[in-house]
Amino acid sequence: MKRHYLLVPILLASGTCAVGQSKSAADLLVRNAKVWTVDRDHPEAEAVAILGDRIVAVGSNQEIDAWRGPNTRVQDGAGKRLVPGFNDAHVHFTSGGQQLDNVQLNDATTTQEFARRIAERAAKTSKGEWILGGDWDETKWTPAQLPTKELIDATTSQTPVAVSRYDGHMILANSLALKLAGVTAKTPDPDGGVIVHDTQGNPTGALKDAAADLVYKVIPDPTHDQRRHSIERALEHAASVGVTSVQHMNPDYADIAIYSELLEEGKLTTRIYAAPLISQVDDQVKIGIRHAFGGPFLRIGALKSYADGSLGSATAYFFEPFNDQPNNRGLLSDAMHPVSLMRDRMMKADAASLQLCTHAIGDAGISAILDIYAEIEKTQGPGDRRWRIEHAQHMAAKDFDRFAQLHVIASVQPYHAIDDGRWAEGRIGHDRASRTYAFRTFLNHGVRLALGTDWNVAPLNPMLTLYAATTRATLDGKNPNGWFPEEKLTVKEAIEAYTMGSAYAEFQENVKGSIAPGKLADMVLLSDDVLSIDPVKIRDVKVVKTWVGGKLVYDSR
Ligand SMILES: [Zn+2]
Repeated sequence: MKRHYLLVPILLASGTCAVGQSKSAADLLVRNAKVWTVDRDHPEAEAVAILGDRIVAVGSNQEIDAWRGPNTRVQDGAGKRLVPGFNDAHVHFTSGGQQLDNVQLNDATTTQEFARRIAERAAKTSKGEWILGGDWDETKWTPAQLPTKELIDATTSQTPVAVSRYDGHMILANSLALKLAGVTAKTPDPDGGVIVHDTQGNPTGALKDAAADLVYKVIPDPTHDQRRHSIERALEHAASVGVTSVQHMNPDYADIAIYSELLEEGKLTTRIYAAPLISQVDDQVKIGIRHAFGGPFLRIGALKSYADGSLGSATAYFFEPFNDQPNNRGLLSDAMHPVSLMRDRMMKADAASLQLCTHAIGDAGISAILDIYAEIEKTQGPGDRRWRIEHAQHMAAKDFDRFAQLHVIASVQPYHAIDDGRWAEGRIGHDRASRTYAFRTFLNHGVRLALGTDWNVAPLNPMLTLYAATTRATLDGKNPNGWFPEEKLTVKEAIEAYTMGSAYAEFQENVKGSIAPGKLADMVLLSDDVLSIDPVKIRDVKVVKTWVGGKLVYDSR
């Protein structure tokens, strides 16, 4: 095990040693750990030395002891596994934080329970205040039917309700919310959206994709304090599950304002890369910033787009109809009406060196985005763009090679696989399902993966993602050996994609993503050795300590 130091820039910058001195004492040593570095040249170590916010040495206990000085803090790793901090490549951070306080509907397994929890919340909510969030999942109910406003109207006459399906692609609005939004039996479906109607032609309250915007438009924005509270909750939660970096997809500008406020106060404990919606492309072009602009705690310069909807809401865009809905093959998003609107925005973003992160789930949705990416490359020449497709769920066989040739990163959320795997085959059939969440096939084609969760759509806890990627055991327990097991990742591959892979996806692979000299000291000590236990047990592994930039941000004790 070789010791490798990073000398000049850090030591001079630290101001703690005179020029000419070869080595200064570390601020923190973590010793006696099983370090999995994700540094391919030196994968294993026992100890790490940290000076300021950076790692200065990685090696054996004995080697690292040489960095001990009178003021050095020493952490005994107690033989536990230390890994780089997890970098969640796709989160909705504010919604995640908000969700921690919202009504919880995801584990309501009957419509009665769904209605009871909303009634209970309404009783505690002041008149006129909205009930939001929820993350209901009708596939857990028997029969698996969409909820209707009639379930909740009687108990919510004074309280507008817009509770989301857990995938964020559908809401259930109550009658008061529909009234405030002006949605009636005569309201036409907007582009990229569906208003669900009952047999009499009245809206049921279920609004899919762009139709939900009719209601969202009339919900007052959270106040500054409410938003800040949600973000603080999210930061706390991230630290507790070992997430040290997140890539926030479609934040509001007000979220970014709070990040910079917290940064200035020294309270930002998770590193943020924020990708606002591409409809706002002109703003970033005007300022003249490029991809990954900012500092180690807060960067911007990426744009999020939507090509289509979701599989669960039957709005992901496919070449062929759904097996269970023969007249429906999904929808392109409203931003793809017409496709040239998306192409023009992306061309403009790319000309300004902004990064593109595009939600695409159905095979035809993914294909349409690859077409645009290819056209941009043809028009504007080759370059290191790190284009991303978010989710990249259901691939057409012909598109894996194209994905690789265009150097597109697959930003994937393995937890969705064990969740959707319960019912996806019924919707898209065996053949299409065999190219679903095709992590191994991506790697075999030379496509880079970045891992994440889509929190609040799925839990933020990286242990659940590692569990999902390595077992592919669906949540209903029906595929204990894995749903399409040939697409499983190894634990090492999954950790690498979740650290270095995600860092690469935000142009930060030289700064973080591995435990190596010179990198930011973002590290997580785990209760059990995820590299040696049965992957089935990974979901129960806990975080013992989380460091961000050498600072302890979570301690389980
Ligand atoms: Zn998302």
